[in-house]
Amino acid sequence: MTAQIIDGRAMGAEIKTELRDDVGHYIEEQGKAPGLVVVLVGGDTASGVYSKAILRVAEEVGMHARLVQLPARTSSDELRALLIQLNNDDDTQGIIVQMPLPAHLSQKMVADTVSAAKDIDGISPQSAGNLFLSLPSLLPSTAAAIMAILERMRIPLAGKRVVILGRSNVVGKPLAMMLLQKNATVTVCHSRTTNLSSYTLQADVLVTAVGHANLVTAHMVRPGAVVIDVGINALPGGGIVGDIDFASVQQVASALTPTPGGVGPLTNIMLLKQCMQAAWWQVRGEDEHDSLLARKPVTQPTA
Ligand code: NAP
Repeated sequence: MTAQIIDGRAMGAEIKTELRDDVGHYIEEQGKAPGLVVVLVGGDTASGVYSKAILRVAEEVGMHARLVQLPARTSSDELRALLIQLNNDDDTQGIIVQMPLPAHLSQKMVADTVSAAKDIDGISPQSAGNLFLSLPSLLPSTAAAIMAILERMRIPLAGKRVVILGRSNVVGKPLAMMLLQKNATVTVCHSRTTNLSSYTLQADVLVTAVGHANLVTAHMVRPGAVVIDVGINALPGGGIVGDIDFASVQQVASALTPTPGGVGPLTNIMLLKQCMQAAWWQVRGEDEHDSLLARKPVTQPTA
């Protein structure tokens, strides 16, 4: 078997077109574009590149995005004051604070301060709690990107066995909650899991979010499984690879994401989709517009 390669760039372009339409409807109705603020503290190069990419995509879909760049010496009180000001700003519908922060600033303070209504990367305890309780919630964008791929590929999830490698707060844990809402049977593995392949070999869908090149080889993958590779690992000679041994896994999986060109291109777009979602919710309330996930927990199995 040679797997279908999932084209994240093409999927991203499709979602971007839909998002542009949605932004257009919002502008027609509200008379202004939804506003997004990216806060960058200090000079982390990767975050700077990521911030510019968000601004570029936002502009492409017609959102009003701006970067607030603060010096690394910014105090906790100053950052908190900015976030409170943005929480109260009618022209700001979504806020994202780039991580990592300089060591003297606390991620918890940021998560506790950003209004849950504007928390477009789903980092706040309230967003995480809502997701846990299957209530409407803004979602961590990488986990949302994985769900978007599975949904668009029409991969059946109800009753299927999904194994996730990695239990971070931004990928593994929220993804497990989202998959449970879709009635998958979910197993989450981590660095202390013993006999990893005994789990991965059971997976109808295998998601790797570890950050370890070539961790998953063909003999760990069930023939016909769908494999979503989230990992990004820099090669010593330049370039990046995911967590799977692409060449060998391609021979056993039915579909898989490449790195680059798989999950990565969708992450920013899903962040902006969340911003759009937040903007509609702020105007109409949470019941008026569809969430990315089913609203109510499904108690009856669906096919
Ligand atoms: P993280 O916070 O470092 O979490 C890594 C997870 O992998 C942890 O839960 C860790 O277990 C687990 N792990 C480590 N070694 C393992 C092993 N041998 N077997 C099974 N699990 C193991 O990383 P993250 O932020 O979730 O990101 C994961 C990867 O995805 C990274 O490569 C990152 O660059 C990439 N990423 C990509 C995107 C994208 O857009 N494509 C977005 C975000 C992240 P413990 O909890 O026990 O330590």
